[in-house]
Amino acid sequence: MQIDEAMRRRLVQAMAEAVSAHVDELSALDAMAGDGDHGHNMRRGFAAAVEKIDTIAAKPLPDAAQELGRTLIMTVGGASGAIFGTAFMAAGKSLPEAPTRADALTALEAAAAAVQARGKAEPGQKTMLDVLVPVAAALRAGEGDVAGAAERAAEATASMQATRGRASFLGDRSRGHVDAGARSTAILIAAISQTVEDTL
Ligand code: ADP
Ligand code: MG
Repeated sequence: MQIDEAMRRRLVQAMAEAVSAHVDELSALDAMAGDGDHGHNMRRGFAAAVEKIDTIAAKPLPDAAQELGRTLIMTVGGASGAIFGTAFMAAGKSLPEAPTRADALTALEAAAAAVQARGKAEPGQKTMLDVLVPVAAALRAGEGDVAGAAERAAEATASMQATRGRASFLGDRSRGHVDAGARSTAILIAAISQTVEDTL
């Protein structure tokens, strides 16, 4: 699929709008286990991406994804800035300019592996990895509903106990609510897949 400049622009805009629509929900989830800033961190990062959308969208897809990653690393802050930034950088390095569905899945797996290496978390520790890893596995197994798989994976973090990041200080009390970063990852995956489907 050719991801031209207009499409690259739509993808950044769709992610920014999706984050914007969920700022309070994401910060409220983070407040249950962390410091309550996750939605605001993500909004700041994607607002910065929208500010430089001309520069990002002008680049071929692999470079555009890496530029978005760099922007998030510089502006999101918190643990999640480095981690989301790393995910987009790794996806960009993996993607060709006109990815097939198989290329997109390989890029998602590269993002998950890079996040794991960067943050030293394992699946099951109630982080955004608990969306990236199961969604990639579901797609490998032939799942067609990307957004649904992401949503279900995020929901499944509610019963997990956090042993990484700030939420780990809560121990067993970290159970009972969805992880903020897992939820934002599902929101971004849904925005990307919706934008791609709308253009097919
Ligand atoms: P901070 O914890 O610094 O306030 P945010 O609130 O923006 O950062 O992001 C918190 C989210 O970051 C968590 O909900 C979790 O999903 C994710 N996270 C934290 N540490 C890690 C890690 N080591 N690996 C993967 N994701 C992580
Ligand atoms: Mg936080």
